[in-house]
Amino acid sequence: MTFRETLHQRLARRRELGLYREVKTLAAAPGPRAQVDGGELVAFSSNDYLGLATHPQVIAAQQRGAGLGAGATASHLVNGHLQIHEQLQDKIAELTGREAALVFSSGYMANIGAVCALVGRGDTVIQDKLNHASLIDGAQLSGARSLRFAHSDMESLERQLSRADGNILVAVDGVYSMDGDCAPLADIARLCGAHGAWLMVDEAHGFGVMGSEGFPCAGSAAAAGLAPEQVPILMGTLGKAAGNAGAFVAGSRELIDYLTQFARPYIYTTGMPPAVAAGCLAALEIMQREPQRREHLAHLVGYFRDRAGALDLPLTDSRSAIQPLIIGGEKAVMALAAGLQQRGFLVGAIRPPTVPAGTARLRITLSAAHSEAEIDALLQALVESLADSVVVAE
Ligand SMILES: *Cc1c(COP(=O)(O)O)cnc(C)c1O
Repeated sequence: MTFRETLHQRLARRRELGLYREVKTLAAAPGPRAQVDGGELVAFSSNDYLGLATHPQVIAAQQRGAGLGAGATASHLVNGHLQIHEQLQDKIAELTGREAALVFSSGYMANIGAVCALVGRGDTVIQDKLNHASLIDGAQLSGARSLRFAHSDMESLERQLSRADGNILVAVDGVYSMDGDCAPLADIARLCGAHGAWLMVDEAHGFGVMGSEGFPCAGSAAAAGLAPEQVPILMGTLGKAAGNAGAFVAGSRELIDYLTQFARPYIYTTGMPPAVAAGCLAALEIMQREPQRREHLAHLVGYFRDRAGALDLPLTDSRSAIQPLIIGGEKAVMALAAGLQQRGFLVGAIRPPTVPAGTARLRITLSAAHSEAEIDALLQALVESLADSVVVAE
C-alpha cells in the first residue's frame, strides 16, 4: 500500500467507528457565547471556568505585554526569560502557597517534563487509570516502570505501592478532566507517606476554582487540607481557569531549581511569549481579588445538579464545574451534541480513546460567566434533543 492509501484506510476505519474528529472553527473565544458557522451558540464546553479568557482587563494587559516583543526569541535559559515571567512565577507561588514555581508552554509539556526529570530507569511511576494523557505519556517516556491503579481505588493503589521499586512517584489528577470527580487526595497522601512515595497532583481543573481558606485558588489538594510537604509537586495549567495558555509546576525552591536543570520540555523550547505571561498575570490577579467568580460558579454547579437531577438526567457524582452526562455510544453522543447545536448550545461530545469504550459522554462545563437562565435553556434543549434521539433509535 502507498503512504496515501495507508492513511486513507486508517481514516476510513476511524469514521466507521464513529470516532472521527473534526475541528470546529470559532470566530472568537467563547465568553460564553460562541460564533460557530455564522450562528451564535452558548458554550458549555470551554474550560474557561471563571470567564477570564474574554475579560477586558486581561486582554488589555496581554496587548500591553505584546509591547515587550511578540515572542520570547529564545528558551528561558538562553535569553527568553523576562521580568514578566518572573512576576508570573512569583504570583503562582503566592497563590499556591509554595516557595517557587516554574512556567512551561503547556500542561502537556509540564507533565512530561516533571515526570521525566524526576524518575527514570529503576524507578516507578504509579498513576490513576483515568489520569490525563500527558501524565500517561510522561511515564512511558521516562523509562521508569509504569503502574496504574483502578480509578480512585485505594486498595489498588496500595497493591501497586507494595510492588514498586526505586524512587516512587505517584501522580494523579486532582479533578478528573472527563468525569469532574476529585481524587481522594487525603487517602492518597497518607499512603504515599507510608510508602515513602512522592506525590504529584495535576491541578489543571482545580487551580483557580477551589482551595482552602488561606489559599482559595490553590486547587483540590488545598481543598483536601493537604500541606505543601504532602504534595511536593503541584502542577497546574494556565489554559483552564486562568483562560490563557501555559502551565506551571510549583513546589520547594529546590524542586524548581532541579526542574530548571533537568526538565527537557522547559529547557529545549522557546520561552512563553511575554504577552501571554502578562495576560496570565492579570488573570491571576483578578482570580485573587474577585472571590465572587468562584462563588457564582459553585452556585451554578449546585443549580445545574438540582435541575438536571429533577429531570432524571444521568448525572455523575461530580461536584466540580465539569458535569458530564454519560450517554454510552459514540454515535448517540454525536447525535445529541448535534441536536444541542441546532438549539443554540455548544457542548463537547467526548468519545474513546479519550474516555473508556462504552462511556461516550457530553462533557458539560460550567463557568462563572453563565447565568441560571442559560442553564435552564440548556436543560430544556437537552430534554428535547434526547426525545429526538429516542425517536431516531426506534
Ligand atoms: C488540559 C489538561 C492538561 C494539559 O494542559 P495544556 O496546557 O492544555 O497542555 C494536563 N492535565 C490535565 C488534567 C488537563 O485537563
